[in-house]
Amino acid sequence: MIVIDFSFAIALFSLSVIGLIMAIWLLTKKDKGKDLGLDPKFIWYCSICTYTYINTKEEVISICPRCGNYNKK
Ligand SMILES: [Zn+2]
Repeated sequence: MIVIDFSFAIALFSLSVIGLIMAIWLLTKKDKGKDLGLDPKFIWYCSICTYTYINTKEEVISICPRCGNYNKK
């Protein structure tokens, strides 16, 4: 009786793990599609504090929201 319950629990656990992996895979796939929609020129990398941020307004020089440093492309 205990053995049957144990294997049932294992099967249930395996199924839930597979379901979770599938859900994560679908979510990350969606996120990747979103990331592709964002132009990489809007992604800025601060040379002072190494902060990565998004600024869609500026194209040449952008101000870091964390330290106020001017970043050039
Ligand atoms: Zn910065």
